[in-house]
Amino acid sequence: MKLISIVIPAYNEEKNIPLLYQKITEIFDMLKNNYAYEIIFVNDGSLDSTINELEKLSQENESVKYIDFSRNFGKEIATSAGINHCSGDACILIDADLQHPIELIPQFIQKWEQGYEVIVGVRKKSKSDSWIKKIGSGLFYKIMDNIAEVKIVSGSTDFRLIDRKVIDEFNRFTETKRLTRGLIDWLGFKKDYIYFEANDRINGVASYSFRKLVSLAITSFTSLSLFPLKLAGYFGILITFLSSIIGFYILLGKYFFDWHFASTFSDAENLAIFIVFLVGIILMSIGLLALYIANIQREVINRPLYVIRNKKV
Ligand code: UDP
Ligand code: MG
Repeated sequence: MKLISIVIPAYNEEKNIPLLYQKITEIFDMLKNNYAYEIIFVNDGSLDSTINELEKLSQENESVKYIDFSRNFGKEIATSAGINHCSGDACILIDADLQHPIELIPQFIQKWEQGYEVIVGVRKKSKSDSWIKKIGSGLFYKIMDNIAEVKIVSGSTDFRLIDRKVIDEFNRFTETKRLTRGLIDWLGFKKDYIYFEANDRINGVASYSFRKLVSLAITSFTSLSLFPLKLAGYFGILITFLSSIIGFYILLGKYFFDWHFASTFSDAENLAIFIVFLVGIILMSIGLLALYIANIQREVINRPLYVIRNKKV
């Protein structure tokens, strides 16, 4: 009998947890001939009585386990802790707010049985999304697509199943600023997608404020891409290039060939162009420094050098 771990980060979800628990147990009741389950809740420093709900459930049902954080560490860390502590042959990550349709769990398991190692829930665009969220997420995936080291399908969520091999590899990550789904994508492995429509949140409010989402986007850009770091350098190359062309044009035109337009530039303007040229050089130097910092960052986050699926040595 295979064991499926369900990992659920929860921040102020006292009202959702009983509902969620009921839905999950109903699903596994149907699957009970083939699969055992454990539910690992991670209470991420909730301010309400989430922890009491968890305590109650865990006394009722020994398949319910929980990790109780000392304070709010954020969803990404909470999910990671759940993955670190799960003992299943596969683990499914689900939000506590019932936005991820629990009914799809059998489909995730089915794909897993077909041999896929990472099954990603992809959220179909929903009409109720605010325009700012639509534009924001569109922009995010556009940028990620261009600068990230790994391919990320637009709308991929944390709602996903990962195989034990992926879990073991995931547990080797040491970085603290992390985007869990980004790291899972980084690991590779055989992937498939399940498309779903997100339900509306039934109780409570989404705690991912706009500010948090922006900061998450920046974390993803900087942890999965070195492009932002190199930006100053690219900018410097551009400025130096343009200003030296203009500078040369004026130098030749004004002092050697008497070109009319070149001669109209005043000394102050020449000086301005010269200063811009120097700024370009400075930015390029910063870009160069950034390359060294990038190397340091790569070493410091101490990612595994490679990821192995199977071994026979
Ligand atoms: N969550 C968490 N810690 C936080 C914020 C959220 O563990 O600091 C959990 C939350 O309980 C839920 C999931 O992460 O299970 C998704 O959160 P939310 O619904 O606020 O985000 P959104 O649906 O907007 O992505
Ligand atoms: Mg939500």
